[in-house]
Amino acid sequence: MRLKDKVALITGAGSGIGYRTARLFAKEGAAVVVVDINDEGGYACVADVETAGGTATFVKADVSRASDCEYMIAAAEATYDKLDILFNNAGISHAADDDAINTSEAVWDLTMAVNVKGVFLGCKYGIPALQRAGGGSIINTASFVALLGAATPQLAYTASKGAVLALSRELAVIHAQENIRVNALCPGPLRTELLMKYLDTEEKKRRRLVHIPMGRFGEAEEIAKAALYLASDESSFVTGSTFLVDGGITAAYVTPE
Ligand code: NAD
Repeated sequence: MRLKDKVALITGAGSGIGYRTARLFAKEGAAVVVVDINDEGGYACVADVETAGGTATFVKADVSRASDCEYMIAAAEATYDKLDILFNNAGISHAADDDAINTSEAVWDLTMAVNVKGVFLGCKYGIPALQRAGGGSIINTASFVALLGAATPQLAYTASKGAVLALSRELAVIHAQENIRVNALCPGPLRTELLMKYLDTEEKKRRRLVHIPMGRFGEAEEIAKAALYLASDESSFVTGSTFLVDGGITAAYVTPE
């Protein structure tokens, strides 16, 4: 097992990437702290892990709130004695996120609060826990949009993911000699709730698909497998990376017909 005796905390584990990663990490031997703002998804994830013979516990937290983040880290240490892996994955994509002219200040602030401040707060309270454990792995979910611009704008979301990428890189450098690795996981477009809610017509889906050389959306499970690599000791010399798992979208200029 690739995560035997490890303790992992995953935010946004009530759905999509986080949910799949919780299942995979538990299958590989980790005890998993499932964090989400949504009780239903969080408890469903824990039940799923336990049915498969794994170990998990649900902690309800809003990652944009400092007290909640402090609490989720404390709960991980109180329940499983330590924390080795911190996957700051919770994120939102607001339906009213648009270009500079049309994005409201409220949508901008909410997106930044969850997607950027949430990652900062996870690290703020999580890094001391990793230090107490003698080191560990932090994975922050950014996105391919941190590297490419789109004519179908989501300005706040794009800016938030750029910030996650930059802060992950800097944290990797700061903590490189403490046995703490920090990587930004950058998924391409996925067939999860988050994107499918946004691409809600066949035409919108088709418009996105033409840019992906592989000609399909990715699956949350494919991102979970990359997270497993970054979480495990197999990636022991990998830190500060922009870890793209994107079906080739950032490599493409013209895609196959
Ligand atoms: P998802 O919507 O399926 O899951 C996100 C989870 O985060 C949900 O369970 C939600 O309840 C939780 N969440 C939202 N706000 C929260 C908060 N304030 N506190 C705690 N939990 C909160 O989405 P997903 O596709 O699994 O996305 C996971 C991450 O991957 C996000 O950071 C997203 O931006 C990123 N991402 C997704 C795609 C994609 O195409 N789906 C592509 C690139 C990056």
